[in-house]
Amino acid sequence: MSKQEHVKPTNFIHQIIESDIADEKVAGGQVVTRFPPEPNGYLHIGHAKSICLNFGTAAKYQGLCNLRFDDTNPEKESQEYIDAIAEDVRWLGFKWDGDIRYTSDYFEQLYQWALYLIANGKAYVDSLSAHEMREFRGNLTEPGKNSPYRERSVAENLELFERMRNGEFDEGDCALRVKIDMAAPNMNLRDPVIYRIRKAHHHQTGDKWCIYPSYDFAHGQSDALEGVTHSICTLEFEDHRPLYDWFIANLPVPAQPRQYEFARLNLNYTITSKRKLKLLVDEQHVSGWDDPRMPTISGLRRRGFTPASIRNFCDMIGVTRSNGVVDMGMLESAVRDDLDANAPRAMCVTRPLKVTVSNFAEGEEEWFELPAHPKDESMGLRKVSFGRNLLIEQEDFEEEKPRKWKRLAPGDAVRLRGAYVITCNEVIKDAAGNLVELICSYDPATKGENPTGYKPNGVIHWVNADHSVPCEVRLYDRLFTEANPEADKAVDFQTHLNPGSLEILTDSRVEIGLKHAVAEAHYQFERLGYFSVDKDSDESRLVLNRTVTLRDSWVKIQGK
Ligand code: ATP
Ligand code: MG
Repeated sequence: MSKQEHVKPTNFIHQIIESDIADEKVAGGQVVTRFPPEPNGYLHIGHAKSICLNFGTAAKYQGLCNLRFDDTNPEKESQEYIDAIAEDVRWLGFKWDGDIRYTSDYFEQLYQWALYLIANGKAYVDSLSAHEMREFRGNLTEPGKNSPYRERSVAENLELFERMRNGEFDEGDCALRVKIDMAAPNMNLRDPVIYRIRKAHHHQTGDKWCIYPSYDFAHGQSDALEGVTHSICTLEFEDHRPLYDWFIANLPVPAQPRQYEFARLNLNYTITSKRKLKLLVDEQHVSGWDDPRMPTISGLRRRGFTPASIRNFCDMIGVTRSNGVVDMGMLESAVRDDLDANAPRAMCVTRPLKVTVSNFAEGEEEWFELPAHPKDESMGLRKVSFGRNLLIEQEDFEEEKPRKWKRLAPGDAVRLRGAYVITCNEVIKDAAGNLVELICSYDPATKGENPTGYKPNGVIHWVNADHSVPCEVRLYDRLFTEANPEADKAVDFQTHLNPGSLEILTDSRVEIGLKHAVAEAHYQFERLGYFSVDKDSDESRLVLNRTVTLRDSWVKIQGK
């Protein structure tokens, strides 16, 4: 059991909800949350934290959770991302209430609310350029200045805004701003822009709109329209809360959502930013969003992580308001715990060394039955084939054995897992002096019995060279060489990519039972780690991804 599991994780959001329920402060009596991704990339492990929090919280209090795409940024968004995100949420084991929702479903209502603000003298069309607007905005130490267009009449603003909508202006000519306070210490309240002209095609609304609401204007009102009771988001939006509250107070919205912020998840040796992950994909540092080295949900899935392991990890890390960095080892330990209990065992020889069992008849075969799982009898037995021509792992043989060697060496005996004890009688090398084959003999009296008169060094794994499945094994290492690849802002994070993050072995062999292994099936290969069948596999080629090693190799790497 991993150390982390002994620490009871906290979840301050649950504490808030419990007191809201006790005080009868939950509107309609039912907790409603939502997960609101922008469809501008694939989800990563940080999003999993938000998904588990939003869907998990709704489930815990018999509430509902919506999936809403915050799609106010059409140029960066796409249907591909929408489909991938929905699939990831489903795969993680969550079900959203009703249909998928889109902020764009509310564009008409949001437009009406913009008109409402104008009619009430609380919004104006500004004709300053973006550059001028920035100059007028001031900074953290200096107040901003009012735009010369701030006092346009309601009638003029209504007319200009309608013309914006009708496409009569070019992008950047003007924008709709709310009239709050250009001297507000919180910069978000300095007359923020709520509508911009963007002559962009939208994946949901097509060419219907050429003005788009800002994320800040859309977000809280969408929550209100959906009756969201607890709008949960990450800490960077804390400073935006006064603005969201201003909109809710100044618009005839049907509900009053309350926002609570929690700390983002950061993991070491990787990055959790869609924008940066997209760079890795676009610049082909990885094979795609679902490259098994990526911290994306689809990458973790392909690597062999299970939905339960990701959900358990999110439980382990808890939900707080303090930012920190979580060790990658913790995510790995979560998947190890799950797969240890649930993955059937098998033997795979990744870097084969030929072993000829000289006293076993050519062409003969003997079958051994091994448990599919040592601790779970319900998983049944598996059959492995033994014969004259075997393969063992190159690193399980040493010509000059070190002290306390637990594997094979000349003249020594070793147990082949689940089968016989063999003794190495001869070492064959090629002309260049490379080791090519071992001639061994097996002891027929050692089937399920200890040998008499000698003691084998240890137990190693093996496969029958004539009756096993050729496979390609992909071994992964951390994606970056630095714990925090973003630490030095002056250095491009991509310079810290680990050149050895992927090693491909094409000569491997796995026991015959995996002949028809299906994509995403999980196995523990004895002594090697947990593996999962890659989607690149087909009838002619079995491809296996190493999810994690059996023990935490990170601790070693980090401590070295
Ligand atoms: P990114 O910076 O990777 O693009 P984002 O915040 O822009 O992330 P969104 O699609 O807006 O991505 O995120 C959807 C939800 O997931 C938001 O509520 C956001 O707060 C949350 N989220 C994003 N990243 C993390 C993270 N690292 N940890 C926890 N929650 C996150
Ligand atoms: Mg965002």
